[in-house]
Amino acid sequence: MWKQFLRFFLIIVLTSAFIVYFASKEVRKNYLRNLECTLENYARLIEKFVSTSVAANDQPQIESITKKLANELGIRCTIIAKDGTVLGDSEEDPAKMEDHSNRPEVIAALQSGVGSCVRHSDTLKKEMLYIAVPIVYQDRIIGIIRTSSFIENVQRSLSAITKNIIGTTLFITFLALVLSIITTQAYTKPIRDIAKAANRIREGDFKTRLYMKRRDELGVLAESLNEMARELEDYFLSLKEEQEGLKTILSSMVEALVVLNKDGEIVTVNQNFVDIMNESPDDIIGKRYWEYIRESDFAELIEHVVKTKKFMTKEIKLTDKIYLTSCSIVKDIPETRIIIVMHEITELKRLEEVKTDFVANVAHELKTPLTAIKGFAETLEDEASENNRRFIKIIRTNTDRLINIVSDLLVISNLEHKKENIEVKEFDLEKLIENSLTIEHKKLEEKNIDVTFDFECSIPQFKGDPFLIEQMMINLLDNAIIYTEKNGEIHIEASEEENTLIIVIKDTGIGIPTEHLPRIFERFYVVDKSRSRQFGGTGLGLSIVKHIVLSHNGEIRVESTVGEGTTFIITLPLL
Ligand code: ADP
Repeated sequence: MWKQFLRFFLIIVLTSAFIVYFASKEVRKNYLRNLECTLENYARLIEKFVSTSVAANDQPQIESITKKLANELGIRCTIIAKDGTVLGDSEEDPAKMEDHSNRPEVIAALQSGVGSCVRHSDTLKKEMLYIAVPIVYQDRIIGIIRTSSFIENVQRSLSAITKNIIGTTLFITFLALVLSIITTQAYTKPIRDIAKAANRIREGDFKTRLYMKRRDELGVLAESLNEMARELEDYFLSLKEEQEGLKTILSSMVEALVVLNKDGEIVTVNQNFVDIMNESPDDIIGKRYWEYIRESDFAELIEHVVKTKKFMTKEIKLTDKIYLTSCSIVKDIPETRIIIVMHEITELKRLEEVKTDFVANVAHELKTPLTAIKGFAETLEDEASENNRRFIKIIRTNTDRLINIVSDLLVISNLEHKKENIEVKEFDLEKLIENSLTIEHKKLEEKNIDVTFDFECSIPQFKGDPFLIEQMMINLLDNAIIYTEKNGEIHIEASEEENTLIIVIKDTGIGIPTEHLPRIFERFYVVDKSRSRQFGGTGLGLSIVKHIVLSHNGEIRVESTVGEGTTFIITLPLL
């Protein structure tokens, strides 16, 4: 407001100063012109009275007329002879006055009939306006009559005018001040109201409304602000509802959830995660995850997901509990977020362990009696009559089958126990495959199956458990021989691609119908029961193979066409 007023005030003062300056100039000019006219008229009037006395050179008469008239008219009057001698003066003694022929007004009067000049009077020591006209007698110039007046009078009038103008200016300024206070008040109040309302909205008070009746731009602005506050209120309300919904979902989740930003800072957690950490949510939010979870497995999982940008799950042990931890990365929100969901599987793992232990124990316990049965059956078979031998053979075959199942189950439970702790050492893969082929040599010969083996020489030394890899090869070769007709072919290939070892076992056997392919790695799953039994199959062979591949962090795939053959493709990372 004061700024506004200062502006008004400056404008008024400047304008007034201009007016005073130009007006005084003009007034002075006019005043001088008027004075000039008056003095000329007086001079011409006095001329009528003194011309005869001048012509007669009657000095006392001249002086008396001059003094009398000048007195009457309130001016100074000087009568000058043509040669410049002062003949009479209303203020001074002419005898004491110097020659006036060189006075500019006198020279001008003689030349052009009238002369004027503003100048400082040496006699009266004041600024004066001089007007001179010639004294004409019988068409002859006989002298000069000069009238003069003090400029001081002009100055007096001018200062009176200036005072008036300044007074008026001060009055106008005062009025302007009052008016500007009123107008700025009227103008700035709604702006201040709008600013206050905008501030309240910024602080989150979306219920703020402005009530303005005006229809001008400020009215429109206020209405827009109201509309904006209404929309923001709605928007925040729905956002809050959404947030509440999300909070409810998160808190009702069985799993523990933690969301990290790209720097590993904890952004969101749910109650379950807070419970695991045994901290308050406010303490956790904003901290780096490694301040709370120091398990290297957890950090490795996150690093892997950040690097590969792929979803991954891992079993992680935290505070004596096991969690199936899934980690994914979300990139389509403004900031990258790492979402970790932890599902507690401690009980599940315990049950699984109990089950595996039970299977291992049962298998172990069964092995001795079964071997005994097998031994006695063999002894009996030798001594039995022809009729009984048939039954004893059935007992022996089934005992063999049971022994096979029991030993396969023992292998699986051993593998499950080892799982992530297999003994890794460097070995010659080519030799190992050749060795497996030697073991299977007899079976191959029986069926006259031709084996081709292609080993890429650039494969670096493979690191793994040689015993398990050999078991894997024997199981696959066994299957390939069993499910391939006589005179068939088996092709084995080993190559390296992008730091992974690829082993391919391809046969020209009966193949596997497509609908069975997804299940053949399951325990006890067999496609053709009678055929499997005929060859002593247990349905556990491929399950063992898959366990071995997984324990080496590899993958196994199968491709098969009925009647044409089956191909198993194993990829193992080269460590
Ligand atoms: P099995 O002891 O019965 O061979 P596996 O687990 O080794 O059990 O194999 C599961 C099933 O997969 C087998 O019953 C068989 O039908 C099928 N299979 C496995 N390998 C081959 C193969 N090379 N050719 C055709 N079928 C196969």
